Amino acid sequence: MDSRLEAVRDTVLARNPGEKEFHQAVTEVFESLGPVHDRHPEFLEGAVLERLCEPERQIIFRVPWTDDAGRVHVNRGFRVEFNSALGPYKGGLRFHPSVYLGIVKFLGFEQIFKNALTGMPIGGGKGGSDFDPRGRSDAEIMRFCQSFMTELYRHIGEYTDVPAGDIGVGGREIGYLFGQYKRITNRYESGVLTGKGISWGGSLVRPEATGYGTVIFAQEMLKTRGQSFDGQRVVVSGSGNVAIHAIAKAQSLGATVVACSDSAGYIVDEAGIDVALLSQIKEVERGRLTEYAARRPGASHVAGGSVWDVNGTVALPCATQNELDGDAAAKLISNGLIAVAEGANMPSTRSAVSVFQDAGILFGPGKAANAGGVATSALEMQQNASRDSWSFEHTEQRLTEIMVGIHDRCAATADEYGAPGNYVVGANIGGFVKVADAMLAQGLI
Ligand code: NDP
Repeated sequence: MDSRLEAVRDTVLARNPGEKEFHQAVTEVFESLGPVHDRHPEFLEGAVLERLCEPERQIIFRVPWTDDAGRVHVNRGFRVEFNSALGPYKGGLRFHPSVYLGIVKFLGFEQIFKNALTGMPIGGGKGGSDFDPRGRSDAEIMRFCQSFMTELYRHIGEYTDVPAGDIGVGGREIGYLFGQYKRITNRYESGVLTGKGISWGGSLVRPEATGYGTVIFAQEMLKTRGQSFDGQRVVVSGSGNVAIHAIAKAQSLGATVVACSDSAGYIVDEAGIDVALLSQIKEVERGRLTEYAARRPGASHVAGGSVWDVNGTVALPCATQNELDGDAAAKLISNGLIAVAEGANMPSTRSAVSVFQDAGILFGPGKAANAGGVATSALEMQQNASRDSWSFEHTEQRLTEIMVGIHDRCAATADEYGAPGNYVVGANIGGFVKVADAMLAQGLI
């Protein structure tokens, strides 16, 4: 790392002790930015990096709620409004027991660059809670969401901060959150949340967008080597929103997706994952992958273990951060891997990224490859602002154009800065320069 940036990075780490995922995300971005600072000394003079690493606002709040037996529980809620240089803060809410400030900050930091890469007018933010939705009834989920929004509502708005979903937050949760926002404010402010239901202000393609976008990005990477998804053998991690739609898109392009996972294990289905069955079990019944193996002839379930033990030519990590380490990367490569596109945020450890890059594997980092979700959220905001709703075909076409644009911008930026084929460098520099220019133009704020 450039020594000028290393000094800033060390200060950031010291000021934010114990936030290891945030440290990792900051370090990974800084490693790409040396050449930018050679060309743009004004970024150093303006202390852009120091400002960028300090969120504009961090909100931590109590979320009390009662379960179905009337017992009181207390969770912690977070919203980190990281950077508004390009537009209102935009980023999802995560409900998972692992959530703490360091995870929200890593996600919010990544979101700044991702949102800049989309070319849409959106800043970066993220939020969530250490609430565990697993095993909770609909009524418990609703009471939790209502309590969460009873504090959050005062901090958000269509021109201020626009949350969406992430792990543990899908259409059901966005519905309860939106209902409570409307009830408290007495405003039908569609643009305050994205990922809404189609009949009440949502956008077609939003549920599919992150997974579809990840595959579109991977397809563009494959094209640079004269290849495509057709005939690829694909391994996916996760079986939630991003994973299911990535599987569907990859198979629609002629690939066979042979494995996917959840936090308890993985399934192998050599005939190709049956997306309708997977969606029924995971999205409708909120069940486990063991049920997929029980109902699908020829499929098997492996309890525990790593889905990355399954051989494939393309890997799509779509579960969570740091789920693919250096050893798993080496194993995938020895099993014939040619490309990785990250549907999840920071699923590959820094050592895994090095292993992939050293081996010349096509590697699409999450902040570029999974930007289709937030880009389509911005399309939802456009539809809300104009009180319009677009067709599936039109919206999917926009998503495709945006993903191809992100791919091409990352590739061109990597070339410009002497790192051809390095999408990590392309994404980090491409996102950073846009935000840094806007920050300088807006004065010392
Ligand atoms: P979901 O909650 O729909 O699904 C998450 C999936 O990942 C589940 O299969 C879950 O398994 C698995 N998972 C979650 N945490 C862990 C863990 N600690 N260890 C192992 N498996 C785990 O979330 P999404 O699909 O929406 O999000 C997946 C990833 O994509 C996240 O990194 C998210 O930040 C990222 N992302 C999501 C976007 C979106 O639009 N939804 C946009 C951009 C990025 P189980 O059910 O067993 O917990």
